[in-house]
Amino acid sequence: MTFDSNPLFGKLTLIGIGLIGSAIAHASRRAGLAAHIACYDRSAEVLETVRRLGYADSTHAELAGAVREADLVILCTPVGSFGELAREMAPHLKNGAIVSDVGGVKAAVVRDVGPHVPEGVHFVPAHPIAGTEQSGPEAGFAELFDGRWCILTPPPGTDAAALETMKDFWHRCGSDVEIMDPRHHDLALAVTSHVPHLIAYNIVGTADDLETVTEGEVIKYSAGGFRDFTRIAASDPTMWRDIFLNNREAVLEVLARFTEDLSLLQRAIRWGDGDTLFNLFTRTRAIRRGIVSAGQDSAEPNFGRNRPKPGEKK
Ligand code: NAP
Repeated sequence: MTFDSNPLFGKLTLIGIGLIGSAIAHASRRAGLAAHIACYDRSAEVLETVRRLGYADSTHAELAGAVREADLVILCTPVGSFGELAREMAPHLKNGAIVSDVGGVKAAVVRDVGPHVPEGVHFVPAHPIAGTEQSGPEAGFAELFDGRWCILTPPPGTDAAALETMKDFWHRCGSDVEIMDPRHHDLALAVTSHVPHLIAYNIVGTADDLETVTEGEVIKYSAGGFRDFTRIAASDPTMWRDIFLNNREAVLEVLARFTEDLSLLQRAIRWGDGDTLFNLFTRTRAIRRGIVSAGQDSAEPNFGRNRPKPGEKK
C-alpha cells in the first residue's frame, strides 16, 4: 500500500482509547493523516498505556482541552455514551471542525449526537466494519481497517466537502468506503453482525447452563463449532449492551424472521425432512464461499488457525 503523505488534519482527537481508538491512531500515524494526534480517555491507566506505547502526540484527562483546536474529533467509546460526550464537548469545538464516530449503530447516533453539533461544525457519522474480540488501548494495530468496509451515514444536508474529507480519511486508513442511510445500515448490520452476536452470546450461555454437559467437555470438545461462537461471545459486554439497546427495532425484526426459520428447521428435523436440511446447508455453504472469494475471510484449513504440529499437545 502507498500513502499520500500530506496530513489531512492539523489536529485529530480520539475520544475513548480502546481497540478502535488505538487502531485509528496507529492507522493515522502510518498514513501521516494528522500533524497532531490527541487522545482522551476517562481512565488514567489507559492514558498511561497510550503514553508508554507512544502513538499519540498528547493525552488528555479533560475533554475540553482534548477537542480544542481539533479539525477532526472521533467518538470511539460505546454508543450509549455519545450523546453526553457530544453535549459536553460542543462548546469547545472550533468552527469548521468535523465530528465523527465509529459506533456500530447509526440511527441512534444521529439522534443522540446530531442535536449537540454546533452551527459551523460538520457531523459525519461512520462505522468501520472491522474489529476483533479484544478491547483496550493495546489491542489496536495499523492494519485493522485494511481491505475492510467503512460505512458513512451522513444526515441530510451534510457539508459535501466534509463528507469528501472523511471518505479520504478512511481510504487512507486502508478501508473501502460506502455511503448509506442510517436506518438501512442498522437493518443490514442487525443481519450481519448484531443478531449473530446475540446468537453466540445465547448458545454459549445455554451450554454453560446445561448441567448434563460438564465444563471440561465444553472446553475439550469445543473445536466442533462451539469454539467459533465463544470467540464472538467474548466481545466487549458494554459495547454490545449499548448496540442492542440502540438498535432495538431492527434487531427485533431480524430475530422474528430468525425464530420463524428456526421453527421450520425444527419441524424438518422432527419429520425427517432431509431435503429441507440439505438444501439449506447447500445454499449457506455457497454464501461462505462468496465471503471468502470477496476477500472478507480466510479459506485456510481450520479458518487459518495454527494446527498443532505432530507430537505437540492439543
Ligand atoms: P473498547 O476497546 O472497550 O474501548 C472503549 C474505550 O472507551 C475504553 O477505554 C473505555 O474506558 C472508554 N470509555 C467508555 N465510556 C467512556 C466515557 N463515557 N468517556 C470516556 N471514555 C469512555 O471498545 P472498542 O471495541 O474500541 O469499541 C468502541 C466503539 O467502536 C464502540 O462504539 C463500538 O460500537 C465501535 N466499534 C467496535 C468494533 C469492534 O469490533 N470492537 C468494530 C467497529 C466499531 P473504560 O474501560 O473505562 O470503560
